[in-house]
Amino acid sequence: MNGPVFLSVVIPMYNEEEVIETTYRRLTEALEPIGETYELIFVNDGSRDSTAKIVRRLGEQDARVKMVDFSRNFGHQIAVTAGMDHASGRTVVLIDADLQDPPELIPEMIARWREGYDVVYGRRIARRGESWFKKLTAAAFYRLLRSMTSVSIPVDTGDFRLMDRKVCDALGSMREQSRFIRGMVSWAGFRQTSVEYVRDERFAGETKYPLRKMVRLSLDAITSFSTKPLKIAGVLGFFMSAVGFVYLLVVLYQRLFTNTTQPGWSSMVVISLLFHGITLSLLGVLGEYIGRIYEETKRRPLYVVADRLNLGDGTAGSAGDAQQRELLKEPVGTGVLRS
Ligand code: UDP
Ligand code: MG
Repeated sequence: MNGPVFLSVVIPMYNEEEVIETTYRRLTEALEPIGETYELIFVNDGSRDSTAKIVRRLGEQDARVKMVDFSRNFGHQIAVTAGMDHASGRTVVLIDADLQDPPELIPEMIARWREGYDVVYGRRIARRGESWFKKLTAAAFYRLLRSMTSVSIPVDTGDFRLMDRKVCDALGSMREQSRFIRGMVSWAGFRQTSVEYVRDERFAGETKYPLRKMVRLSLDAITSFSTKPLKIAGVLGFFMSAVGFVYLLVVLYQRLFTNTTQPGWSSMVVISLLFHGITLSLLGVLGEYIGRIYEETKRRPLYVVADRLNLGDGTAGSAGDAQQRELLKEPVGTGVLRS
């Protein structure tokens, strides 16, 4: 890495040979007028086509083009992580390679950053050229996720966003295997805002997110931000035991005060309800422990420090950052956080 730049753009690519040159051109056209230094970090996520070759050729003509080349396909979220690990910019933008996220929105994101926001994410107000199935499942997924997690993850946002260096560093310190970057950015906190955009059609080629990968991402999202599924057994078990117990009282009443009991059947139902209930409750107890073990094995930092005053160099460059920020930015806006 040769010296820090103002903006790093991270572009994950998986078999994107049809789009990558256009993406490069559109990015360059959008970024050059800003008049700040930037780098384009292309991450080749094990493409089997000529994606890497094209990027290499671009890199020969333009030193701002950089590439992280994976040995195989590790998946979109890991590719984005690798790009962030290699980014040196004061700000970092994540953008898809297929031009579904317009590069022309980046100057607006930078403007919001200058107002004092640390994360500016793109919120899709419409999605063009995507099947009703994708729109429906995406909408359902974001709402399910919101109902299951305690971290407020904004709905209808993808990974298209601009982050301040300190947010990028915070994410870099989270080394969990199953990654859901959108959620991790929300978890990291800081001042966040959104800019709205219309999500375009893919410029060329097919989606690299077949249903299988979408399900995988959804599961990663839910399991890495919620241990609620582990608790389902406990809740079910509790209710079954309760029903079993009530039914036991009913059977006892019938046996003692009426003559409507069916011999054999009643006792079987009571035993079945009670014992299945107990088993499930105990599974729920295990779930609680496994949930905690799981939280620990993620080895996430317990907190993320936004700034330090006179405490020496804590997180990467925070003290110097604050100063430089004063020079770079207009007076910090008092904008209310939209979440
Ligand atoms: N991608 C990747 N690795 C994968 C799948 C996708 O790096 O295993 C990249 C892909 O090249 C694109 C971005 O992730 O830049 C989003 O993928 P895509 O556009 O296919 O997803 P969709 O927009 O259809 O959800
Ligand atoms: Mg796409």
